[in-house]
Amino acid sequence: MKYLDEFRDGAIARALADEIRQIVTKPWVVMEVCGGQTHSILRNGVDQLLPEGVELVHGPGCPVCVTPLEVIDRALAIAQKPGVIFCSFGDMLRVPGSSTDLFRVKAEGADVRIVYSPLDALTLARRDRDRQVVFFGIGFETTAPANAMAVKLASDEGLDNFSMLVSHVLVPPAIEAICRSKGNRVQGFLAAGHVCTVMGTRQYPAIAERYGVPIVVTGFEPIDLLEGIRRALVQLERGEARVENAYARVVSEEGNPAARAVLDEVFEVTDQSWRGIGRIPQSGWRLAPSYRGFDAAERFDVGAIRTVESPECRSGEVLQGLITPPECAAFGTVCTPRTPLGATMVSSEGACAAYFLNGRRKRGTNGVAAHA
Ligand code: SF4
Repeated sequence: MKYLDEFRDGAIARALADEIRQIVTKPWVVMEVCGGQTHSILRNGVDQLLPEGVELVHGPGCPVCVTPLEVIDRALAIAQKPGVIFCSFGDMLRVPGSSTDLFRVKAEGADVRIVYSPLDALTLARRDRDRQVVFFGIGFETTAPANAMAVKLASDEGLDNFSMLVSHVLVPPAIEAICRSKGNRVQGFLAAGHVCTVMGTRQYPAIAERYGVPIVVTGFEPIDLLEGIRRALVQLERGEARVENAYARVVSEEGNPAARAVLDEVFEVTDQSWRGIGRIPQSGWRLAPSYRGFDAAERFDVGAIRTVESPECRSGEVLQGLITPPECAAFGTVCTPRTPLGATMVSSEGACAAYFLNGRRKRGTNGVAAHA
């Protein structure tokens, strides 16, 4: 299959791993930012091909994991209001709020529906003008254009029974926050290819220069990941800190101008809370003033929420690459995908779920340290 099989070829993977072994002369820590990359690394054993001392840590690039608890609690409050059809991607239904989750409130009678696109929610709003249809609009730069387009269409059509609970996050400020954080160990980054498909690579050179970190835009197949790691390690060994595009079959410097235009029209950049991490300046999108009427949090007046986070969950440290999931005492015992304490165990892109589902129990997995 063109553009797929060749990126899963075992012989190419082994050759890249050999090359990496020849490059490396000292220990390095590289973060893959995206949860999709984390799952691919663990599912395909990419980490196990790396030489001892090259450590991969997992970043905050899981949209379900970083959606703030207060937003989950707002979603739960809105979903339980009479006359509301609450629409969400399936992953969000099992994410624990302070006291319950969307699955439970659905079982108790709330009209919570799984949709595959914000446009599905828009269709529901067109069909049922007597009900308020709310879409849970979360995610990174990847999902934001479709959500922005849904709001724009609702506005153009005068659909006053459609609104969106928005919690969008932006990757570059999160990378900067990790670089600045106390105890940061990350020396190079694999940037998420699909985010750059929309936004381009333009945002990264300033960060690479400011913090002295190589940033390699990387895809999701095993060969993509090994090539991204190889390029990052070459730079680290040479003392360089540049942006490289190792996903040029999909990503350009400019990104997608049409998608960026609708984002600029419908959203505005704002300070944003990240679950487990805290507030990061200018790291999110909210509806722009001319579209604020479609903000579900304002329409349903659910601003004042008191949240209660699980005291056992260390997902904030997992999301910043400070620990790997098995270092959390709850991992695989009280916290499993069937009984998740935190979003990183719930989400299909969560690092804790990736470790659990791929049977990993030791930190690092390539001999860095064993804490299991
Ligand atoms: S294993 Fe569970 S409790 Fe521990 S950090 Fe991950 S999600 Fe949180």
